[in-house]
This record gives sequence, C-alpha cells and structure tokens, in this order.
Amino acid sequence: MDQQVALVTGAQQGIGRGIASVMAARAYHVVVWDLDPEAVAETARELGGTGFAVDVADFRAVADAVAQVEELVGPVAVLVNNAGINRDRMLHRMSEDEWDQVVAVDMKGPFNVMRHVVPRMRERKSGRIINISSASWQGNVGQANYAAAKAGVIGLTKTAARELARFNITVNAICPGFIDTPMTRRMPPEAFQVMLDKIPMGRIGTPEDVGRVVAFLASSDAAYVTGDVINVGGGMVL
Ligand code: NAP
Repeated sequence: MDQQVALVTGAQQGIGRGIASVMAARAYHVVVWDLDPEAVAETARELGGTGFAVDVADFRAVADAVAQVEELVGPVAVLVNNAGINRDRMLHRMSEDEWDQVVAVDMKGPFNVMRHVVPRMRERKSGRIINISSASWQGNVGQANYAAAKAGVIGLTKTAARELARFNITVNAICPGFIDTPMTRRMPPEAFQVMLDKIPMGRIGTPEDVGRVVAFLASSDAAYVTGDVINVGGGMVL
C-alpha cells in the first residue's frame, strides 16, 4: 500500500473521529480502533480505512490487534493514543472501581499500545506517536482519577521521547481543553457553561481543532519536535 498508516484509538466518535477524518483527508490510511464492532466498521467505511474492535485496556488483545494491523494493513507510521473515559467524582466519594477503570483505559491503554507498536517502529527507525492527555492533568476538581491518569500520560510521553529519539521516532502529547464531543455533552448544562466561560476564545473546541494539531505533529514540519506537550484549548486555563 502506498498510503502511510495512521492508527487512532477511540476513533468512532468525538476527538478520535475528528483526528481520523483529518488524517484521512491528508491521504493517510486510517486504522480505526474502538470498542463497538459495528460503529468501528461504519466509521472505517466512511473514512476509507480499516476498523478493529479492540479494548485498549487489554494487554493481550492489543498485542494481537497490533500484529493483525501490521500484517493485514501495513506498518503503523503514526500512532494516536486517544481512547479515554472519565468517571468524575469528588475524591472522598470516589470508588476503587472508578479509579481503576480510568487508570486502566487512560494511562495503561497508551502504554499497552505503545508497548506493542514501539518495537516495530524501532526496527524501522521511524514513527510518530501522539498521546491525547488533557488540560485536567494539572488538577481539576472531581477528576482525581482522570487528572492522575492524564499526568501519567505526560510522564510516559516524555520518557518514551527520550528513549526513542535515536530511532527517529517522535513522541508528543496534546492537551485538549474543552472540546465538543459526546463526553462533554454528557455534562450537566450548568457545568458545561462554567467550562465555556473559562475559554478566552469564547467557543468550545471542535474535534478537528485537535485533529489538525495531530496532523502537524505527524508531518515532516514537526520532525524536530519531541517530548513536548501542546495545549489545544482556545487559551483555556482550568
Ligand atoms: P468520547 O466522546 O467519549 O470518545 C472516546 C471514545 O473512546 C469512545 O468511542 C469510546 O467508546 C472509546 N473508548 C472508551 N474506552 C475504550 C477502550 N477501553 N478501548 C477502546 N476504545 C475505548 O471522548 P472524547 O471527548 O472524544 O475524548 C477523546 C480523548 O480526549 C480522551 O482521551 C479524553 O480524555 C481526551 N480529552 C477530551 C476532552 C474534551 O473536552 N472532550 C478534553 C481533554 C481531553 P465508548 O463510547 O463505547 O465508551
């Protein structure tokens, strides 16, 4: 296949979908990973890519899926770790399960996928990895689990960037601010407005606002950028 392969996790809706559509428009063959097999197949069909139903929190399932992608579709040139969940609650009421679920998907998920893609990128001496963290990594009321996991993603990104620079692999993180997706549409209207009021640019972000920054980090224009964290939030400070 002539096209470069971009693997995007959590890509059947929201930010992942926006990233996948920007990458498809820039001539990448997009590999769509998400949980629901039908939604994955539908999204892949619409974007002219290939879909796989994979739980990023499952180390073994990720190993098998990465092997299948490389065998059936082609070498992964760009990996975007986007799949994420939130289970917001004040720390003093947070259950062990709410903590474990968020850490398993949002922090262990990117590790699982990188752990299986990175050895292949090292062999090829090329690759781009973009991890989707969050503005919340610096702390946000009601998000102890999510902020801890998203801060962990930044540590993972910066460490991998140092380990992989000599293999011509860049690793960067993006911190979206407040983006219009099913995740944010689930918020109570008052909380939604509070977030909107924090954005100097006066509008919620779109998934494509994030997708275009991913495309920049994947492009040759960003060849000398690694271990960095880019905020995409219209100037928002939590
Ligand atoms: P979203 O609308 O909920 O989409 C996330 C997608 O990931 C969903 O399709 C979801 O599937 C999938 N997913 C969940 N768990 C998964 C797993 N274990 N394996 C594979 N796929 C899984 O969320 P979003 O707002 O687009 O967020 C995307 C990323 O951006 C997340 O990492 C999020 O933390 C981050 N982010 C979002 C915002 C924002 O304002 N929206 C801000 C900062 C950071 P199901 O629907 O079936 O669960």
